[in-house]
Amino acid sequence: MNSRKKMTKREFLKLLGMGSLGLVFWQCYDSKKEEPIDESPMNENSNSSSEQASTQPAISFTENDVIFLTRNDENYNQLRLGFNKRFDRFPQVIAVCFTEIGVQAAIQKANQEKLKIAVKSGGHSFESFSCGENSMLINLSKMNKIQWKDQENVILQPACLLQEIYADFLPKKRIIPAGSCGTVAVAGLTLGGGYGFFSRKYGLTCDNLTRIKMVNGKGELLDSQENPDLLWACRGGGNGNFGVVTEMHYQTHPAPNSFSSYRLRFRNLTEDRFMNLIRNWFDFTENLRNEAFSAFVLNGKTLTILITNFQNHSSEFESSFDTLKSLADDYSPTYNQNLATALKRYYGRKDPLYFKNASSGLYHGIQDIESILPEVFQKVTSKSGMIYQINTLGGAIQNSEFEGNSSYPHRKYSYLSELQSYWEKPSQESGFLEKFEEIQQVFHRHGIQAQYRNYPDINFPNWQTAYYGQNYSRLQKLKSEWDPEDLFSFEQSVRKG
Ligand SMILES: Cc1cc2nc3c(=O)[nH]c(=O)nc-3n(C[C@H](O)[C@H](O)[C@H](O)COP(=O)(O)OP(=O)(O)OC[C@H]3O[C@@H](n4cnc5c(N)ncnc54)[C@H](O)[C@@H]3O)c2cc1C
Repeated sequence: MNSRKKMTKREFLKLLGMGSLGLVFWQCYDSKKEEPIDESPMNENSNSSSEQASTQPAISFTENDVIFLTRNDENYNQLRLGFNKRFDRFPQVIAVCFTEIGVQAAIQKANQEKLKIAVKSGGHSFESFSCGENSMLINLSKMNKIQWKDQENVILQPACLLQEIYADFLPKKRIIPAGSCGTVAVAGLTLGGGYGFFSRKYGLTCDNLTRIKMVNGKGELLDSQENPDLLWACRGGGNGNFGVVTEMHYQTHPAPNSFSSYRLRFRNLTEDRFMNLIRNWFDFTENLRNEAFSAFVLNGKTLTILITNFQNHSSEFESSFDTLKSLADDYSPTYNQNLATALKRYYGRKDPLYFKNASSGLYHGIQDIESILPEVFQKVTSKSGMIYQINTLGGAIQNSEFEGNSSYPHRKYSYLSELQSYWEKPSQESGFLEKFEEIQQVFHRHGIQAQYRNYPDINFPNWQTAYYGQNYSRLQKLKSEWDPEDLFSFEQSVRKG
C-alpha cells in the first residue's frame, strides 16, 4: 500500500511555487527509494469521490491520487511546458497524477467533460504531442518510481528519466538498452521503440519490456498478462494513442565494465570529400560488432563521426576504422571509461530549447540515398544551425523473435537518420522551418518512406504507414476497442479502424 503522506492541493501548490527550487522539490518529494509501488486495485485511503461517469463506476480518489490545475493555478505554466520551446499550448486542465487511481479519475473527468487527453511523461515529444490546446493534460512527472522485482527484473513508472534509471541501475551493474538524453522519460521512449548505445546488442528498449499496464480511454485498467495485444501495441505503437501507461516491467542486462568512444572530426568539407567520407562510413558500419554504435553528424561544413564500443578496447577494433582515421582532421579516443561517467557525457541540455527535429528516413544502406546525398549536403550546409545525422541500428534489433512480438515495423533497416535545427529567438523560426521542409522534401521525392515514430514530423504525408507500416490497421482495431470515444487524440494519433 502507498505510504506517502497525504498532501493537500494547497500544500502541493505551495511547494511547487518555490520557483527555481522547483527541481529540488521534485527530487526531494520523490520517495521512490522507500516506497513500493502500490499494486492494489483501489486506494484504501480514499475519502472523496468524483461524479459518476456514464459507463464506469465512480472512481474514489483523493488529492494523494490526482490534483487538477487550471490556468489560474500558480504552477500551471511550469507543468504544461515541454522540452521544445517552439510550442506554447494551453490545456484546459492539467491532471497531475500520483497513482493509477489518479489516472483513472482523470480519464473519468475527461469523459464526463468531453475533453481530449494528451499524456506527458518526460515532455520531449518533438511535435508537442504530449500537450494539446484546450484539452486535458495528464502530467505523470510524479509517477517516477523504480522497483526491483529481483536482480534482473525491474518495474518502472512512466516518468522515470533516463538519468534516474542509469543512476539507479549502474551501481547494481545492470542496464536496459535505452537512449542517451538524460531527461527523456522511459515511457515516451519505449512506447515508440527506443534505441541507444546498447541496442545493437540487446534490441530496442521496447523489446525488453515484459509486461505493461495501461488505463484505457474507457477508464479500464488493462494488464498485458491478461491482454497480450497490449504488449504488442506498446512495443512501438503506444505513444498517447490508447490510454495512459502506468507501469512498465523490463528485463535488464549486465552492465558492461567499460565504455570506449572514438571521435573523428573533419572540417571544411567539400561535396566530394563529404561523399568520400559517407561512403567510407557506410562501408565501416556495415560490419560493426554488436557492442558498437556509430553516428555520422554533419553540422555545417564540419562532420563528426562518433564510434562507441562497450567491449573492452582493443587495437583490433580501433584499426577497423583506420581509413576514416587517416582522413580525419582530429581524432580523440577515450579508452575504457567508467560506464556511468561515459554516459553522463551524452545526457545533453536539461533546459528547453527552440528546435525542429525529425526522422529523415530509415535506410537499408547508402544505396537508398546515395544519388541525393550531394543535394542534401548542399542544402544542409547552406544554413548554419542545420544538422543531418545518421545512426546505426541493426544488430539484435533485427532478431526475428522481436518482429512478431512488436508493432515496431522497421527492423530490416540498419540506419536511422535525423534532421535537426536549433535556434535562439522565435523570429528565426520560419527560416529554419522552411529550410527543414525543403530538405525533407528531397528525401520524400526520392521515395524515402519509413520513419521513426519517436522522431515525428507533423508534415509527413503518409505518417500512418511511415511510422507503423503494415501494423497500422491492427493498431486501428485496438484503438476502436480501447478508446472508442477517441479521447486520446492529436494530429498523428492512431485513428479508429
Ligand atoms: C534531446 C532528445 C534526445 C533524444 N534521444 C533519443 C535517443 O537517444 N533514442 C531514442 O530512441 N529517442 C530519443 N529521443 C526521442 C524520444 O524517444 C521521444 O521524444 C520520446 O517520445 C520522449 O518521451 P518523453 O516521455 O520524454 O516525452 P513526452 O513528450 O512526455 O511523450 C512523448 C509521446 O509519448 C506519449 N506518452 C508519454 N508518456 C506516456 C504514457 N505514460 N502513456 C501513454 N503515452 C505516453 C506522449 O503522449 C507523446 O505522444 C530524444 C528526444 C530528445 C528531445
